[in-house]
Amino acid sequence: MIMDCIFCKIANKEMKSDIIFENDSVVAFKDIHPKANFHILIVPKKHIESVDKLEENDKKLVGEMILTAKNIAKENNISGYKLVINVGRDGGQVVDHLHLHLLSGKPIELP
Ligand code: AMP
Ligand code: ZN
Repeated sequence: MIMDCIFCKIANKEMKSDIIFENDSVVAFKDIHPKANFHILIVPKKHIESVDKLEENDKKLVGEMILTAKNIAKENNISGYKLVINVGRDGGQVVDHLHLHLLSGKPIELP
C-alpha cells in the first residue's frame, strides 16, 4: 500500500468508491468520470505502478484482471466492450496504480 495512492486507498476502503466486485486480488469500481455509458476500472489490490513495472510473478494477477472484466461484462449483459490500459504519461496514464478500463456503450465527450 502506497500512502498517497488513491487506488490503494479505494482498495483498502479508506476512500469511498462505487465498488461492484472484489475478491482477494482485485477490486472493480465505477469510474468517477465515465468516458462511456458503462465504465468500470479493474484494479489489483497490490500496488503496481503500471504495465511497465509488471514482473514475471504478476502473470496470474493480470489474468485475474481480464477475467474479472469478462465476468462483469457478462453479468451486465454487455455483448461488446473495450479493455484499455494506459501506460505512462505519454500513454495517457494519470493514476500511477495499474488499472484496466472496461468500457461499453456510447462514448461520453468530455468538456
Ligand atoms: P488513466 O488515465 O488510465 O490513469 O485513468 C484514470 C481513471 O481513474 C480516469 O478515468 C479517472 O476518471 C478515474 N478516477 C480517478 N479518481 C477516481 C476515483 N476516486 N474513483 C473512481 N475513478 C477515479
Ligand atoms: Zn496504489
